[in-house]
Amino acid sequence: MQNVVSPSINLSQISDIVKSQKEYFNTGKTLSISFRIKQLKKLHDAIILHENEIHEALYKDLKKSTPEAYITETGLVLKEIEEAIQKTKRWAKPRRVKTPLFFAPASSKIHPEPYGNVLIISPWNYPFQLLFSPLVGAIAAGNTILCKPSEHSIHTTAVSKKIIESIFDPQYITVVEGAVEESTALLKEKWDYIFFTGSTHVGRIVYQAAAKHLTPVTLELGGKSPCIVDKNINLENTARRIVWGKFLNLGQTCIAPDYLLVHKDIKNDLIQRIKEKINQFFGENPQESEDYGRIINQRNFDRLSHLIDENKVIFGGQTDRDDKYIAPTLLDGISLDDAIMQEEIFGPLLPIIEWENLDEVIQLINQREKPLALYMFSKNSSHNNRILKECPSGGACINDTVVHIGNPNLPFGGVGESGIGAYHSQASFDTFSHLKSVLHKSPAIDLEVRYAPWKKNFGKLKFLLKNML
Ligand code: NAD
Repeated sequence: MQNVVSPSINLSQISDIVKSQKEYFNTGKTLSISFRIKQLKKLHDAIILHENEIHEALYKDLKKSTPEAYITETGLVLKEIEEAIQKTKRWAKPRRVKTPLFFAPASSKIHPEPYGNVLIISPWNYPFQLLFSPLVGAIAAGNTILCKPSEHSIHTTAVSKKIIESIFDPQYITVVEGAVEESTALLKEKWDYIFFTGSTHVGRIVYQAAAKHLTPVTLELGGKSPCIVDKNINLENTARRIVWGKFLNLGQTCIAPDYLLVHKDIKNDLIQRIKEKINQFFGENPQESEDYGRIINQRNFDRLSHLIDENKVIFGGQTDRDDKYIAPTLLDGISLDDAIMQEEIFGPLLPIIEWENLDEVIQLINQREKPLALYMFSKNSSHNNRILKECPSGGACINDTVVHIGNPNLPFGGVGESGIGAYHSQASFDTFSHLKSVLHKSPAIDLEVRYAPWKKNFGKLKFLLKNML
């Protein structure tokens, strides 16, 4: 039996909740910028008030240490709220664009307007961040919101619900707990926007449900993110940065380096350095390290255990099912047909594949679905440029892993099977806003040639269209 959240509501209540949220949106309260900023401030204060409880919940769900929980969850969300409090007024202002002379006298602006009632569905791996980060954008943009957190991160889901219920009117923002049945019922409703973070498999289900109502979506999905290492690198920093990005949250990170593609000339040196770094970070026995978390549940533990081919383990490989512990594990001699290369790993297993020329690497990556992230370690700028230009991916990072997600000025999202849309900072505000294009024409002057009968003015019209549009 998996440990999962029990539903907080009866399925028959869902339609009433959605209806009451739509009514609330229609009151126009959320259109006020000061209202939105006030809600963001309330959220900020409530997170600070419950910070210890959130960290305790993350420890119980994933054995995340407080520093890791702060760096990757609460700290990031607080920063995002602070920025939104400061900038929502600016983001919400109509954005002036040029108007061609043909339409003069007129002005043109893009008016961000809230979509309306939005649904946010989130996963268990960063259960706090991935619920609250989109929530910040949805509040700033002026929507009413229903949140459906993951049923697997039971403690974080409970404290998230408690925080939201303590500060928001449920007609405005509410939480519905539950699993597939509840999500399915929620997806039957007509939403104005759906923001989903989770697997590609469920992403497809969400997209199909949204299509029935022509509801726009953001799909933040997963996939296998490659990490390429060239021969011309800083060995120490490369090893450190790979170990950090791979074993953070035990590899249960959507943008963790999934597999390593390393140049054959430095492969042995890099592997040696990676082993040293694992020992330095987590000690001889990572099971005893306070900085090494746990797999979310036994189902995922079993899935990952099946991906460990004992004949290919060159480091780690220890497991403890009762403790949901899997050691940082390196696997060598990997072939593309191995089970570990067929699915997103989402755990602390790092398969290593060697290469000799960059063409092979590009071909290998491009034979697969477009990844969510791509990492390239090299001092050779023409190699870096080739990888960026020839390998499509949601995002990318040169000479580091994972950190691109932390720059608020870089919209975060996937492409192809790794997702649709992007968010963070202003990109979040824009994601949750319909950008309405408005041309404001003067009631006075008019261009006669635009009106029928056209024949006698056709020459003039052609000239004006060519030169004034
Ligand atoms: P998941 O797809 O199983 O679940 C995500 C959410 O969808 C949960 O709230 C769950 O209750 C709900 N859900 C599950 N089945 C459903 C169904 N049939 N219909 C409707 N809703 C359903 O994902 P997960 O296991 O929680 O998370 C892991 C996956 O999420 C990985 O693939 C990972 O790469 C991806 N992920 C992506 C990002 C990103 O930002 N791109 C971030 C974190 C995780």
